[in-house]
Amino acid sequence: MAYIEPAPIKDTENPLESMMQRFNTAFELLGFDEEMYDILKVPAKQVVVGLPVTMDNGKIKIFEGYRVIHSNILGPAKGGLRFDPGVNLNEVKALAAWMTWKCAVVDIPYGGAKGGVTCNPREMSAGELERLMRTYTQTMLGVFGPDRDIPAPDMGTGPREMAWLMDEYSKANGMTVHSVVTGKPLVLGGSEGRVEATGRGVMVCALVGMEKLRVNPYHATCAVQGFGNVGSHAARLLHERGVKVVAISDVTGAYYNKKGIDIKAAMEYTEKNNRSLAGFKGGEKIDPADLLTLEVDVLVPAAMEDVIVETNAPKIRAKMIVEGANGPTSAKADKILNEKGILAVPDILANAGGVSVSYFEWVQNRLGYKWTAERIKRRSDRIMKEAFERVYATSLEYKVPMRIAAYIVALKKVADTYQFRGGY
Ligand code: GLU
Repeated sequence: MAYIEPAPIKDTENPLESMMQRFNTAFELLGFDEEMYDILKVPAKQVVVGLPVTMDNGKIKIFEGYRVIHSNILGPAKGGLRFDPGVNLNEVKALAAWMTWKCAVVDIPYGGAKGGVTCNPREMSAGELERLMRTYTQTMLGVFGPDRDIPAPDMGTGPREMAWLMDEYSKANGMTVHSVVTGKPLVLGGSEGRVEATGRGVMVCALVGMEKLRVNPYHATCAVQGFGNVGSHAARLLHERGVKVVAISDVTGAYYNKKGIDIKAAMEYTEKNNRSLAGFKGGEKIDPADLLTLEVDVLVPAAMEDVIVETNAPKIRAKMIVEGANGPTSAKADKILNEKGILAVPDILANAGGVSVSYFEWVQNRLGYKWTAERIKRRSDRIMKEAFERVYATSLEYKVPMRIAAYIVALKKVADTYQFRGGY
């Protein structure tokens, strides 16, 4: 079968609008007064910078960088840094707000932030990326800080970039400051379990969700969109728990195997193949758009925003969606999924395992101590299970889908805290 490049399935809806629609619904249900609306909605700080970087060819290129602190009501702001060609202020604003809600849902003492640079890391050398990250850090010296704003990895960044950030910040302050950033390499104050943390949280949510739907994991099937840090570990951990992962995908294409894909083999393959699934032989190549509409028990979108939209939502056949990515389902698609009775475990709950272990990393850095992998797993699994149950109970109480329930839990927590401290 010839492989045909699919038409992009990205909707025109912008993530900020999608976020605001859910926010508005939850806000109305809570019956807060008008004054609280802006307190919860308007970002506390938005920074946009031009970043001159000397490229390998000797020429200077200017990149645009962002950092948005949505809220610091619950504590210092927390959130990842994205290196991607699609990064823009609107997207960063939505992602920053999602971080606020996410930290509130899992009950960790952080506000929300997000940052990024509009660039294509796949086309840049390690040297160019290092210079870019160091320049970005320099421009953010007054923004970042262990008690102010703590970045972490996101799309296009990882432990290597976090190490550069930590080093640059430390140099500027004349001392080693591990706790200014999380997601660092293990040897540089990173935490056990941080790399797999988001995928692990997705797995925990999928298992608890299956319990609610009375689906036996040993008879369950799953499709995972995205094979980066989130998707690959979610697929591996689900596979280890008996779930048959029948399809995986990345930017190079989607791979289907009715008998189940050998996820370990796929991970070993991408490790040797420049992090890409191109040429993977463990499954038949299918149209990536079809992965989302496979008849599976669990669908895990773990790639990017707005992949489940108005046009493909009616065709989704999964019983449950567990959102590894941030904002993979548009607000219009929500309605369709709800009508179809599909259980959607929302991003601000499902992918909060990452920031939970980031929190543990920050705590360990501040203690100058190291926890074992077992302790990290036990504590993060507990956080995720408790958060799931909290959101599930709220969805029954308010008779709303889990997504709106998650917003209710989050908005209520931030608003209650605000009542005590009176802003920042
Ligand atoms: N970028 C991740 C997220 O969207 C992790 C953020 C963090 O660990 O601070 O949740």
